[in-house]
Amino acid sequence: MRLARTALELLLASHPVDCTHCLKNRSCELQRIAKHLGVKLKTKRFRKILPELPIDTSSPLFIYDPNKCVLCGKCVWVCQEKLGKGAIGFAYRGFRRMVTTFGDEPVGRSICQDCSECIAVCPVGALVLKSETC
Ligand code: SF4
Ligand code: SF4
Repeated sequence: MRLARTALELLLASHPVDCTHCLKNRSCELQRIAKHLGVKLKTKRFRKILPELPIDTSSPLFIYDPNKCVLCGKCVWVCQEKLGKGAIGFAYRGFRRMVTTFGDEPVGRSICQDCSECIAVCPVGALVLKSETC
């Protein structure tokens, strides 16, 4: 339990916690796990270092905010293993590690365009449908 708490606090140290403005508010796995472990989302145990990556709004269907990604790999699994598309994957190492398209292209310029299967599996507010923002 102590290790799980520390792992979550480390993750939250690089997560932009702004739940009231997030479409996943109240259905977010990070919120659920934090509640279960008794960890405050705005924990101050570790120094906050945010990735500050650009939000990708290029898809007509969805928004990808890599800053909120927890690197769970579910979207990559759906795209690669279930659909056999391989449009997205992990890139870089360490703090820079992120989910991106082949060649780091905006999702709207990749083969993602007419697909939004990954949205359904994202446990946090990193992948959200544009239709839900209206
Ligand atoms: S992804 Fe979850 S924890 Fe992060 S801002 Fe959104 S609702 Fe809050
Ligand atoms: S499913 Fe969401 S949180 Fe998980 S790796 Fe993909 S974008 Fe990140």
